Amino acid sequence: MHIKDAKSKYSKSDQSFLRDFNTKKLLNILRERGPMSRVELAEVSNLDKKTVTNIVNDMFANNQVRVLATESTGLGRPKEILSLNGEFSRCIGIDLGGTHITGVIIDFTGNILASHSIDIHNNVETDILIQLCDLIISQLLKKAELSIDDISEIGVAFQGHIDVETGEAILSENVPNWNSVMFRTALKEKYKKEILMDDCSRLMTLAELWHGEGRYSDNFIVFDLGLGIGCGMVINGQIYAGSKGKSGEVGHTIVKVDGPECTCGRRGCIESLASGWALSKQAKMLAEKYPNGLLAEVTKNAYETPSTKDIVLAAELGDKECYDLLVNAGKCIAIGIANSISLINPSKVIIGGRLIKDNNILLESIIENVKLQTIPELYKDSIITTSKLGSTASAIGAATLCLKKHYE
Ligand SMILES: [Zn+2]
Repeated sequence: MHIKDAKSKYSKSDQSFLRDFNTKKLLNILRERGPMSRVELAEVSNLDKKTVTNIVNDMFANNQVRVLATESTGLGRPKEILSLNGEFSRCIGIDLGGTHITGVIIDFTGNILASHSIDIHNNVETDILIQLCDLIISQLLKKAELSIDDISEIGVAFQGHIDVETGEAILSENVPNWNSVMFRTALKEKYKKEILMDDCSRLMTLAELWHGEGRYSDNFIVFDLGLGIGCGMVINGQIYAGSKGKSGEVGHTIVKVDGPECTCGRRGCIESLASGWALSKQAKMLAEKYPNGLLAEVTKNAYETPSTKDIVLAAELGDKECYDLLVNAGKCIAIGIANSISLINPSKVIIGGRLIKDNNILLESIIENVKLQTIPELYKDSIITTSKLGSTASAIGAATLCLKKHYE
């Protein structure tokens, strides 16, 4: 077929679709593999050099790429090494956890320009939550030496699902006073930006897929252990949301028939035994039972609810009950992980969230018990690892949610 015939065979919209498809292909190559020359881009993408040159020219015109370095080859024109231009788009990601608000600013390359976090209580009202969020945003802009005009969009990680019909969040029982509609409206009005939202565990998974331990894996699960317990799944390279976007409720799978009451109204869920709120609840009973014990001393006041930090400290100082509490929580979480491995046969399991931060007793119990509870034939296929993105993972995922449209 002559080139002329081929051109007439495709309509203008087909050609612009192809151009868009190839642009995203090149952007993803630069994002995933880092800086490279036009010739290398052509090799990796399997596109001809002329197509790559034309697309790269457009990318320059759009400010999406820049010349990182010029390499002299001794012959002919020096070779330009291209990289993504971070300044093309900068996004804010906010993670509204039940015990903290964490924010980051990331640029088009995925670099973190600033991060800031504050501790909060999960029963604060929405108007206070909005004020605290404003505080985080102003601190982030100050740290990154940017103004709000430099920001393209704001992403928010909520504890809960996004209703596929209304686009609003259905929040988890762990944050009873929050109203996502009010929150989104206030943020949108104040900053005049598009506000994108999703579930915090799924956004943690997106962060792992793009920037973390999941980068080179097509099938993996991320366990988000915090005030609540959730998970995110990547199946065949794509985040799995479920038929109505409600997947990942591993915390509400039952591991103890007739166990303690859960926030979902049932009994014996993993969350009712091993989440941040369940550990605090069980520890409070321990502190009241032993008012002169180590836990009560660490908590300072026997009638105050101990935090996970208090429980870990008491366990490390030798409090047997607190130690057992953490080991048993690890066993329950491990059952959830083992069951998930049996269901989807992942190549990797990534354990993240604030509950494992400086909490080796819990983490070791989880890792030991996953091995004991998983069918050996399936266990050998999965690498069990911890998140290296730390407590900013969901915020990074929220900012990545904003950048995604340029790449997908
Ligand atoms: Zn439950």
